[in-house]
Amino acid sequence: MKREQMAPAVAREGGRLRYRLRRAVTVTVLFLHQCLWLSVFLVPWQPALLAPALLLGWLLILGVEMGNHRYFSHRSFTTGRVFQFVLAWWATLAFQRSVLWWACMHRQHHRFSDQPGDPHSPYAAAGGGFLYAHLNWGVAERNASADPHYIRDLLAYPELRWLERFGYVPNLVYAGGAYLLGHLGWVGTSGAQAVVWLYVVPLFICQHVISSQATLAHGAPRLPGSYRSFSTGDRSLNHVLLGLISCGGGYHNNHHRFPGSARVGMRWYEVDLAYLAIKALQRVGLVHKVSIPNQVRRHAGMEQA
Ligand SMILES: [Zn+2]
Ligand SMILES: [Zn+2]
Repeated sequence: MKREQMAPAVAREGGRLRYRLRRAVTVTVLFLHQCLWLSVFLVPWQPALLAPALLLGWLLILGVEMGNHRYFSHRSFTTGRVFQFVLAWWATLAFQRSVLWWACMHRQHHRFSDQPGDPHSPYAAAGGGFLYAHLNWGVAERNASADPHYIRDLLAYPELRWLERFGYVPNLVYAGGAYLLGHLGWVGTSGAQAVVWLYVVPLFICQHVISSQATLAHGAPRLPGSYRSFSTGDRSLNHVLLGLISCGGGYHNNHHRFPGSARVGMRWYEVDLAYLAIKALQRVGLVHKVSIPNQVRRHAGMEQA
């Protein structure tokens, strides 16, 4: 066989091996990450850090809901290149793989909601069940990498591709910063305690709140108090408490009806913290063109655009 005929075959083989290695590393890291919460039993209990841990968990949820979800997946508002990178860095801190992968999976979720092709439906033929939709879908072979077809608009930014490759950098900076705060005695704990309470616990909170949108917000299982405001072709539900703690993502039936809307909470009791944050950022000039369809405005009792 001529050299030039062999080369592509060798390249394919090498590429496959590299892919398998990268996938093995990703699955191992994600698995270890899921077990990190056990470290709360390895360090002394630190009640003084409980409130900061909850606050940081909430900030991570806000980063995922406003960044990964409403901006990168749905482009429901616009922003400049610098704040776009800030949003990407912020969302990456939540350790939910990259902005590109997240947006790709989420766009597929909307395209095939609760049908075969949905990457994390509890009812999907390819997987299914609570555990699959809550956690295991993230390491399923079919969801291993982002399909460029879904994220051409985002792939145009080299800094987002850089974060795809080096997503561990923001997390190392975050965990390292927490360690230093403890080690230098600034939060009254050891470095290890600070890492557990200021990094691991917030990540754990964020992970399970965000994952609940694939399970509880799709009725698996159906929480008491869940309701549907709109007829959609999926099993999405609204829930006031889930909507509040998830910064608005838990008004999931509203969201599936109007996925491109920057505002998701519509009734007076559907407090939408991500929308309030977007509005505040708009007021200080960091975000623009906040998209709220007239139908949403009507349901929310806002003036029509
Ligand atoms: Zn959904
Ligand atoms: Zn969405």
